[in-house]
Amino acid sequence: MTILAAGKVNYRARIERAALLAGRHEFAREILSFYSAIAKFQQEFYQALPKRWGKKAVVPANGDLRSELNLVLLLESFPEFLKVLEAHAPKALVEAARSLKSKGAGRQAEILQEFWKTGLLETHLPVAAPSEPPLVNPFEDFFARAVLQPYADFVTDAMLPPAPLMTVCRCPRCNALPVFGLLRPEGDSGKRFLVCSFCSLEWEFRRILCANCGEQKEQQLPVYVAEQFPHVRVESCETCKHYLRTIDLTKDGHAIPVVDDLAAVPLSLWAEEHGYTRIQGNLLGT
Ligand SMILES: [Zn+2]
Ligand SMILES: [Zn+2]
Repeated sequence: MTILAAGKVNYRARIERAALLAGRHEFAREILSFYSAIAKFQQEFYQALPKRWGKKAVVPANGDLRSELNLVLLLESFPEFLKVLEAHAPKALVEAARSLKSKGAGRQAEILQEFWKTGLLETHLPVAAPSEPPLVNPFEDFFARAVLQPYADFVTDAMLPPAPLMTVCRCPRCNALPVFGLLRPEGDSGKRFLVCSFCSLEWEFRRILCANCGEQKEQQLPVYVAEQFPHVRVESCETCKHYLRTIDLTKDGHAIPVVDDLAAVPLSLWAEEHGYTRIQGNLLGT
């Protein structure tokens, strides 16, 4: 096992896993069916990218993933995504999608560019003073994240991996926060990795170490596992009160981490009740 993610994204496996977990967990059924619609869009978009990319180089000349955006191509596909939302999303999102559609390509370009530059670098969105309008619209953030995920996967497929840095709390390629951890089978226990919330890079990380504040004392780092999800760990930190969700592939080798993370809804509620904040949430905030 190398410390970097291997190969292309398998959207089909994600869609199949979502259907399987929807059958297993009633509380996650709606969320997973909505996710499947998003994943189908992402799959088609990702597969069409090689043909639709045009003459522009895929990898930015300076090697910085976030420095350039193929905006023409993205704006062609964005209305397709808004259509998917109108057909499958919860009501509030449908309204936000319609509103964004009516604002046109100018506003759509703005939110895509903004997210590409600064998306997922911070845990908490900037908060405006009570009298001012909010600085970031969480729905617009979600739209950009969903569309730019397969786009980032496509660009990074063509990039050389970054120098293998171990045990950094942020992505060595794009500086975003980790969305979850992985335990991959190795030796008797398992090797721990963090997965980037923006570009999906995996990098190796020490087992006993808070991915938010760097706490190393084992007694400050309790791990919780619910009976319902024996392969999903809540790795918390008493020092900074943050937690990382980690998919334990030594317990379930069939898990598809992106999807198993989305399905583990009760763990978020549990963590919230116990005063822990997730380092970075997943696409649907579950
Ligand atoms: Zn990254
Ligand atoms: Zn911590």
